[in-house]
Amino acid sequence: MSYRSPLEARVAKKTTKAIKDFNLIEDGDRVMVGVSGGKDSWALVQILDELRHRAPIDFSLIAVNVDSGYKDYKHDVIAKTCESRGWESRIEHTEIGELMDDILEANATPCSLCARLRRGVLYRIAGEVGATKIALGHHLDDFIETLLLNLFFAGALKAMPARLVSDNGEHTVIRPLVYVEESEARLYARERGLEIIGCCCPACGDLSLQRQRVKRLITDLEVEHPGLKNSMLKALTNVMPRHLLDTRLNPSGELRDSVALRLDEEGSHQLLQILPGRH
Ligand code: SF4
Repeated sequence: MSYRSPLEARVAKKTTKAIKDFNLIEDGDRVMVGVSGGKDSWALVQILDELRHRAPIDFSLIAVNVDSGYKDYKHDVIAKTCESRGWESRIEHTEIGELMDDILEANATPCSLCARLRRGVLYRIAGEVGATKIALGHHLDDFIETLLLNLFFAGALKAMPARLVSDNGEHTVIRPLVYVEESEARLYARERGLEIIGCCCPACGDLSLQRQRVKRLITDLEVEHPGLKNSMLKALTNVMPRHLLDTRLNPSGELRDSVALRLDEEGSHQLLQILPGRH
């Protein structure tokens, strides 16, 4: 079965590679896709549906939307789109928007708190619908922007995982668009006629100044040095702990020596036990 366009073939190829590289979807999985009505989550559910019909493994999909309760949010568009494409779906109405107003500290960026609250709802629904995986629409640009945001402003060398098992081990979150660029997700959602809807919250489309700056920086550098974004992503798969300064990964010489000595002692003790005749 051929793809509808070169773009769809490219997005499919990248998504398949991610699924294989990180073992994201297995035979028999029920994948719950978090759909907000934005370009990324639409692109994700659409391409997973395409792959589902072609994959050598059997998996099912359910699109789940968490409605934060903002006035004018067009959740009906999501329900209608899913229905017209034959996608199983569920719209969960919540009061996250109101809750955010109550608990968000002044001048704090709302998106991370919002994401945490929505994640909690998704976990609950995953249990209710029997989902074995929760798929989110983060793409390549999200990964490398997060890497630089943490590097520049949080003093940490981290991005996000393509596959994450929740702390209690009950849920597995996957990000199959890790190799797909934001521009490709945008074009793909448009090409497939998916109506993009805003989340209608007061912060909608209002990226933090830090994220805006990082986005601009990466865009400018990519123009100067094509391939830079892919190099940054590759770096996340090519970590050399001994060339970093984290002593948890790379103990100091003294600590290393003492560990080596202990291993030596344990080794010779075991050797002496194996060779009792040499006492
Ligand atoms: S823009 Fe609004 S709805 Fe979207 S993640 Fe941020 S706070 Fe949540």
